[in-house]
Amino acid sequence: MRKTAFTISIKTALSLCLLASPAVGLAQSVSSIENASSNTQLKRCGTNHPSIKEAVLKEQHFSTLRGSSDINSESHTLRPVGSVSIDVYFHVITDNSNNGALSNSEINSQMAVLNDAYASTPFTFNLVSTSVTANNTWYNVGYNSSAEQSMKNSLRVGDAGDLNIYVAEISDGLLGWATFPSSYSSDPLDDGVVILTGSVPGGDASPYNEGDTLTHEVGHWLGLYHTFQGGCFGRGDYVSDTPAERSAAYGCPVGRDTCTRGRNADGEDPVTNFMDYTDDNCMYEFTEGQATRADEQSSTYRGL
Ligand SMILES: [Zn+2]
Repeated sequence: MRKTAFTISIKTALSLCLLASPAVGLAQSVSSIENASSNTQLKRCGTNHPSIKEAVLKEQHFSTLRGSSDINSESHTLRPVGSVSIDVYFHVITDNSNNGALSNSEINSQMAVLNDAYASTPFTFNLVSTSVTANNTWYNVGYNSSAEQSMKNSLRVGDAGDLNIYVAEISDGLLGWATFPSSYSSDPLDDGVVILTGSVPGGDASPYNEGDTLTHEVGHWLGLYHTFQGGCFGRGDYVSDTPAERSAAYGCPVGRDTCTRGRNADGEDPVTNFMDYTDDNCMYEFTEGQATRADEQSSTYRGL
């Protein structure tokens, strides 16, 4: 296991995701989502990230809420490791023949992966309850679908600071999706993370079956963008210690360096970061800057 001075957390799994942020208003069709890698039909993440211009507006709102007029300010003090406990509600969706069922051991293994990934951040995740629902329509839930809406309306519990995780044989070859903290107020029932059943540790979604789809999606739920957000331009993912990256990385192209100039261009692409698109066994870290942003986003928008 590798660890550097800037490594906030370690783990050997990656995940894919589809991050849903309807409030952002950016349409991204599922068909436009790139295949996660050549050796799978799965697509890592369909997250509706904002455009560069929209991201600036969202950042200005964020700055206002946290009492700063400078969107470039990164003066937030990171809370102590393990000091923010998040209650988790796990919702397993099966079909009417019980396909998609997960054992307690599998769920606990997924929770362990999640906690390991965030072990050097303020966040810990506490599984409060698990629900199991047999529903053939929800079992193949698609992103931004009526099935997603009815599933979440029926099952979601808690408030802005509670993490609802839905596990299903989701459609469109996606590994998962999530909502951003800033989206909560406009659509509380939509809030949460959806992941593919086969992405849990030991699942059938190789090379994305080590449990880090959930790690990646929870990163979005806490306020993190993809490491390639904004490409080589602007402030990218609004994290100063993740080198700018022109596009998503697949597989595990260590040493790739796609941005030669612009803010944060120095340094190789952060392909081992949980918020890129690489294989589960390639990504294993968050940076201190990401931990700080997640801390501030979640405290500002989720009251955590
Ligand atoms: Zn994502």
